[in-house]
Amino acid sequence: MRRPIIAGNWKMYKTARETVEFFEQFKPLVKISHHCDIVIAAPFTVLVDAVKAAEGSNIAIAAQDLFWEAEGAYTGEISPLMLVDVGCRYTLVGHSERRQLFGETNQNVNKKIKAALSVNLTPIVCIGEMLEEREANQTQKVIQTQFLEGFAGLTAQAFSRIILAYEPVWAIGTGRTATPEIAGEVHEYIRGLADASFGQPGARNLRILYGGSVKPDNIKGLMAQAHVDGALVGGASLNADSFGSIVNF
Ligand code: PEP
Repeated sequence: MRRPIIAGNWKMYKTARETVEFFEQFKPLVKISHHCDIVIAAPFTVLVDAVKAAEGSNIAIAAQDLFWEAEGAYTGEISPLMLVDVGCRYTLVGHSERRQLFGETNQNVNKKIKAALSVNLTPIVCIGEMLEEREANQTQKVIQTQFLEGFAGLTAQAFSRIILAYEPVWAIGTGRTATPEIAGEVHEYIRGLADASFGQPGARNLRILYGGSVKPDNIKGLMAQAHVDGALVGGASLNADSFGSIVNF
């Protein structure tokens, strides 16, 4: 049985004060939510506040990105060890906004995954197709390339420490959610890729989250799909009540 994960991605939102306020409201809502892992990916500037606010709770903190080098002359970058140092346990890698707006390639994603694993940070690796690609029947091909290039050179043991998020780009921040059937179909395809590359039990145990306009009113249908093991939630994770409802689906 795969343990569900509900992860929030705050993107470039929230000051330190707003972070503290969020946790004050959110913690009581999920205090007895032991059915899933709860993760919040906060901006770098409030990671310390988020870790402190979540202390002693069942909520883990993630970064939204990282650089692959341990240290050096890389102005503006953040190393894996720096994230561990402030108390992060997870990090997003390859979010579509990084890929689209900041030129993140599958090769960079691959280096970031390896760097995260080297310091025991759990990577939540995002893959997904754009609207034109779906309309041109390229979804499986795009996903396959992102998967094979992103996970190149990983051992089955390393792969077993990864979490995947399927996020169709056309559903992110658009209010347009993939139907549970579409999500289920792609998740099953991804599990097949995992099986072909890394075998069992890695594929069977791989947790695949769905992301793209997840809201309190559509989470249940998505979670009912056999291969959907959780959600990566953007907009609806900014509000304690709505994220609390999603966690308690
Ligand atoms: C995301 O940021 O990963 C995301 C899925 O955003 P939203 O839920 O707002 O579509």
